[in-house]
Amino acid sequence: MIVGEKMAGNEFQVSKAKILLAKGDITEQGTDAIVNAANSTLMGGGGVDGAIHRKGGPKILEECKRMRATEWPDGLPTGRAIITSGGNLKAKHVIHTVGPVWRGGIHGEPELLAEAYLNSLRLAVSNGLKTIAFPSISTGAYRYPIEKASRIALTTVKEFLEKEDKLDKVVFVLFTRHDLEIYKKAAKEII
Ligand code: ADP
Repeated sequence: MIVGEKMAGNEFQVSKAKILLAKGDITEQGTDAIVNAANSTLMGGGGVDGAIHRKGGPKILEECKRMRATEWPDGLPTGRAIITSGGNLKAKHVIHTVGPVWRGGIHGEPELLAEAYLNSLRLAVSNGLKTIAFPSISTGAYRYPIEKASRIALTTVKEFLEKEDKLDKVVFVLFTRHDLEIYKKAAKEII
C-alpha cells in the first residue's frame, strides 16, 4: 500500500515525471518557473496576473513591456506563451500565457486552452527548466468551467510528459480546496 500523498491522490507519475496537485498560492512556488494566467496586453491584471506582478516587482513588467515593443506589438495571442525572469519571486522564471475567454465552448476554447498549456511546457523545456507550476488557467475572470478546464489541463500535460522526458515535475496550484478536489477527481480518471 502506498502511503502519504499518493494515498491522498495528490501525486501522479507519468513516465519519469511527477504531476502534483496542491492547494496554494502560485506566487509562493519554488519551481523553476511559474505560469501566469495573463491577458494579451501583458500589462498585468487581476487574479493570478495581479498577484505575480505585485509580489514579483517591476522587473517582470519591464520585460513584458519589452516583449510587447519588440515581438508582440499587437499583444500576445490567445494560446501563446512568453518567458520572463521571476523578479523577486522564488521562481526564477515566469511563463506568461493567455488562456481563452469562455464563450460557450464552440469558439475553439478547448483547443486554445490546450495550446496555452502546451506552449508553456515547450517554453520550459526549450529554456532547460525542470519544474513548472501552473494555476488553473482561464477558470477565473475568463469563466472557463473548471470541470472541463481541469480535464484539458491534465490531458495536455500527461500527453506532453509521455512524449518528452525533460521535465521532472509539473505542479497544479489550485487556489481553493473545491478547485483542488475537481482536479483530483479529473486526475484519477485521466492519469
Ligand atoms: P483567467 O483570467 O485565466 O481566468 P484568473 O487569474 O482570473 O485567470 O484565475 C485563474 C484561476 O486562478 C482561478 O481559479 C483563481 O481562483 C485562481 N487564482 C487566483 N489567484 C491565485 C493565486 N495567487 N495562486 C493560485 N491561483 C490563483
